[in-house]
Amino acid sequence: MAKPTRIDPADVLAVGDLLTDEERLVRDTVRRFADERIRPHIGDWFERGVFPARELAPELGALGVLGMHLDGYGCAGSGAVAYGVACMELEAADSGLRSFVSVQGSLAMRSVHAFGSEEQKQRWLPGLAAGELIGCFALTEPDFGSDPANMRTRARRKGADWVLTGTKTWITNGSISDVAVVWAQTDDGVRGFLVEPGTPGFTATDVPGKLSLRASVTSELAFDEVVLPADAVLPGVTGLRGPLSSLNEARFGILWGTVGAARDCYTAALDYAGSRVQFERPIASFQLTQQKLVEMMLEVEKAYLVALRIGRLKDEGAARPAHISFGKLNNVRAALDVARSARTVLGANGITTAYPVLRHANNLESVLTYEGTSEIHTLVLGETITGEAAYR
Ligand code: FAD
Repeated sequence: MAKPTRIDPADVLAVGDLLTDEERLVRDTVRRFADERIRPHIGDWFERGVFPARELAPELGALGVLGMHLDGYGCAGSGAVAYGVACMELEAADSGLRSFVSVQGSLAMRSVHAFGSEEQKQRWLPGLAAGELIGCFALTEPDFGSDPANMRTRARRKGADWVLTGTKTWITNGSISDVAVVWAQTDDGVRGFLVEPGTPGFTATDVPGKLSLRASVTSELAFDEVVLPADAVLPGVTGLRGPLSSLNEARFGILWGTVGAARDCYTAALDYAGSRVQFERPIASFQLTQQKLVEMMLEVEKAYLVALRIGRLKDEGAARPAHISFGKLNNVRAALDVARSARTVLGANGITTAYPVLRHANNLESVLTYEGTSEIHTLVLGETITGEAAYR
């Protein structure tokens, strides 16, 4: 006979029981770090628009989450689901924290790991894995976001050197990076270049006025005839396949991370509803509130199952870009719906940084847009199921 099990309101279907012991250990370790090290400060960081990257990076390195799913060079070499649950717990604290880890590990480090020379890997990856160094990934330009194939940033050969000219924008970690992976057109197609701060002609300024992802550094990078040595180019890839394959890795972190943000909003609303009394009753006792809480819980659990299915496919080597688009589209949308509904349960308190819900909702607006907007992922899936491309 099946053992009677206690229902955990934060995970009614007990999806967590489908994780391995090792994955649960990662989940609990990262959750403890986020609860102790991030949660007490995140409201203040968000309000002030700061992310103490230099201070946190070595701690994230020690936690093993920087380039966690990569092999060698000081990286943990963990499985996809283990990396996913780490992202889930990081984003339960804040999407800015998960963004830092995604950009460092899945975009900057993964590009060097997949396409770099042995010297480039030895030079950058151990320091990035330890959080002694910070990296960024520069693809988006002021005039080309969803359509990077038409980028204007260009690198031309000058003798043995390269000369890089152009502007990249919305670059996470841009102004604080020790190395920028910059994608540029060349005579042979798109190529990746490793650019260090202090190189003449390279400047970075932060994007002002962000109302979302405030605890995250977002910058514009300008390259004015920047001379780079021959060994600055990533030798292993030519064409958009390079940046797009790294983006696919980072999106995997997003489809897990958003489960954490959604869960955090749902549990904040559940706690609040149990203690907030109106009309002499806890608001959790009203049918309308219960309906909201139940809808939130359903979305959190479904998103968790979607993430786990895609994670298992990835661990089997069977995850396709369409699966990642499925997860990104569904889970970000679900998390946004949960965050907005949770906000209403908290009433006026829901609009402050004393509670996480509007901070998550605001952050998730960025997450909806970056690494492929919801419209682009809809088109990817539309093409997958109909065979018709509808991008133009
Ligand atoms: P656009 O491409 O101009 O799109 C505007 C609207 O038009 C969207 O709704 C879009 O879906 C829609 N649209 C576009 N084309 C189509 C179409 N064919 N059919 C239907 N609708 C369409 N980039 C990096 O390279 N590195 C980073 O580290 C990075 N970090 C970021 C951090 C933040 C906080 C943000 C907000 C963005 C970041 N980005 C980064 C940029 C991000 O990837 C782009 O914003 C994203 O690709 C969308 O580009 P865009 O903003 O130019 O919007």
